[in-house]
Amino acid sequence: MSDDQPEVPVVCTECDTRTQIPLDDVADAVDRHNDQIHDGEAVAEVDPAIREHLADRVAADIGLLD
Ligand SMILES: [Zn+2]
Repeated sequence: MSDDQPEVPVVCTECDTRTQIPLDDVADAVDRHNDQIHDGEAVAEVDPAIREHLADRVAADIGLLD
């Protein structure tokens, strides 16, 4: 069932890491990482190129582009 769960890359410029996170968990994972490692600073984020793509897709999914 989890086969169609898309994964999105999260990049952290300070840790110099790039991690694939399932879409459902990505917001939590980013929050947790920034909380635990960066004292709450928003350092880690979804790869900006992907985020744009996702935003388009989510917008399409919820009908914003109709
Ligand atoms: Zn980090």
